[in-house]
Amino acid sequence: MVEAKGIYHRYDKKGCDVLHNINFVINRGEFVFIVGPSGAGKSTLFKMIIREIVPTKGILRVFGHDLAAMRRGRIPYLRRNIGMVFQDFRLLEEHTTFDNIAFALRVIGATGREIRRRVPYVLELVGLTDKATARVCDLSGGEQQRIGLARAIVNRPAMIIADEPTGNLDPDNSYEIMNILRTINMRGTTVLVATHNREIVDRLKKRVIHLDRGRLTVDEAKGVYSSAL
Ligand code: ADP
Repeated sequence: MVEAKGIYHRYDKKGCDVLHNINFVINRGEFVFIVGPSGAGKSTLFKMIIREIVPTKGILRVFGHDLAAMRRGRIPYLRRNIGMVFQDFRLLEEHTTFDNIAFALRVIGATGREIRRRVPYVLELVGLTDKATARVCDLSGGEQQRIGLARAIVNRPAMIIADEPTGNLDPDNSYEIMNILRTINMRGTTVLVATHNREIVDRLKKRVIHLDRGRLTVDEAKGVYSSAL
């Protein structure tokens, strides 16, 4: 599903490599934590997977396509298959829960009927059925991130990429968000999570890829954060 072969990246020609010789394969249906200190290169890797940037060297294949060779016109289709979740939620604050999720469907041309069917389904999955008509700005951080998850999955993407999804949440809400991601994964979606949340990584015993100053230092099935240090 995602294959990195000898990837390097530098943002400007005179600068340093921020990723060095990264190699891994992530298969369909996996749940993978990408961990490492700030500046390690986690977001850079995610930007490559959604083809915001291309590797300076090496090959990155996503869903079997070499992204450097992908034509511009294909990029929206790639991104449709990848649900994004952000640390800062990125919701329409003045709008309702329902509208925030419906919006993601409208932009891909879904019909009113599909919207009325899909939105309640994902709201139930994230436990927000009773908040459908609430405005985002009246909801807690944990609830807002659950909307972020619902919006990410409503188009049935093959993969979810979550960049520090619990960075602004307390431990209980963080655990709840990770549990929902786990449920989404068990239903067949591949999940990649960049995180600093040591407790959760250790508790979930999923694959852990550790980046340190742009290098992949550990790639361990059923890993823990601490062993990566
Ligand atoms: P992480 O997500 O692990 O915190 P990043 O991928 O954001 O790490 O950053 C990796 C390195 O790339 C850092 O040294 C950062 O300063 C640098 N970097 C990130 N974005 C840019 C950019 N747009 N231009 C130049 N350097 C960048």
